[in-house]
Amino acid sequence: MKITDILGQEKASLSFEVFPPKKDTDFANVEAAALGIAALKPNYMSVTYGAGGSTKGNTIQLARGIQEKYGVPTIAHLTCVCADREGIKAALAEMKSAGIENILALRGDVPKDYEGEVFTDFPHASELVKLIKECGDFCVGGACYPEVHPDSANKKADIDGLKKKVEAGCEYLTTQMFFDNNIFFNFMYRVREAGINVPIIPGIMPITRKVQVKNAVKLSGCNVPERFKTIVDRFGDSEEAMKQAGIAYATDQIIDLLANGVKNIHVYSMNKPEIAAGIQKNLSEILKVI
Ligand code: FAD
Repeated sequence: MKITDILGQEKASLSFEVFPPKKDTDFANVEAAALGIAALKPNYMSVTYGAGGSTKGNTIQLARGIQEKYGVPTIAHLTCVCADREGIKAALAEMKSAGIENILALRGDVPKDYEGEVFTDFPHASELVKLIKECGDFCVGGACYPEVHPDSANKKADIDGLKKKVEAGCEYLTTQMFFDNNIFFNFMYRVREAGINVPIIPGIMPITRKVQVKNAVKLSGCNVPERFKTIVDRFGDSEEAMKQAGIAYATDQIIDLLANGVKNIHVYSMNKPEIAAGIQKNLSEILKVI
């Protein structure tokens, strides 16, 4: 099933993201976690992709398993950094034969210690979007950044880049994590004003461990509100308390988004079935009325 068909339905959607293992020996554990999340029957799931193609096989195998064992439609991420057209075409052919219909087209970041040419055939994700569209009947999404991508000179340049990606054929966008919904609402205003009309799905990251705050900020550069910093300071030293508080904070963010007219929510569930289940349970009645 195409993700745009799910996003086009009247009902709200809740989806979860998982990531494949870097080492093949870890596959069984990660697969068990991903299938634990698939068993919750979210509207769809996405599986990330190691920049440079490092997880290609595991991404495809995980996405295929989720679809075949639980019937949950899946998005495979695909990055084009350090890749050429032939390599991407080969990856697309593998995805197609695995029954994958949905791809999140990403530029990716340069892997540490990589020494070859980086952005040869694909300087931006928009070139990847174009190639995927030429290669078959895939539904193609992309990433966007409510707090501006670090490579963009300013907010306007960021939106201009996004517009090119959508014009290249990107059919929906999923956001980078954010912890302050006002940043998302403000971004939506700028995006719609620029004439970008594809569905935009907020990506919510439940922070359930103290160490994740530092990592999340380093990875995404996102702003952490004082309210959340206080929660982490107070509960970060207790594993169970921080997990509960993190799920509650993410739930609160999601309820506020849903109350303000957002219909589709994507959760970075970090391969943790209990986190995905906690959020789903907290929203069980709310999702019935949207
Ligand atoms: P682009 O869309 O190419 O944007 C990068 C920069 O170029 C931006 O500043 C943009 O404004 C500008 N730009 C874009 N198009 C043009 C254009 N045509 N002309 C001029 N400027 C342009 N990384 C992984 O390695 N694996 C994953 O699975 C993964 N999944 C992700 C999922 C989501 C939802 C998000 C938000 C990010 C994900 N990332 C992943 C991280 C992502 O690869 C990095 O943030 C990367 O630095 C940018 O990728 P992009 O696809 O957004 O790039």
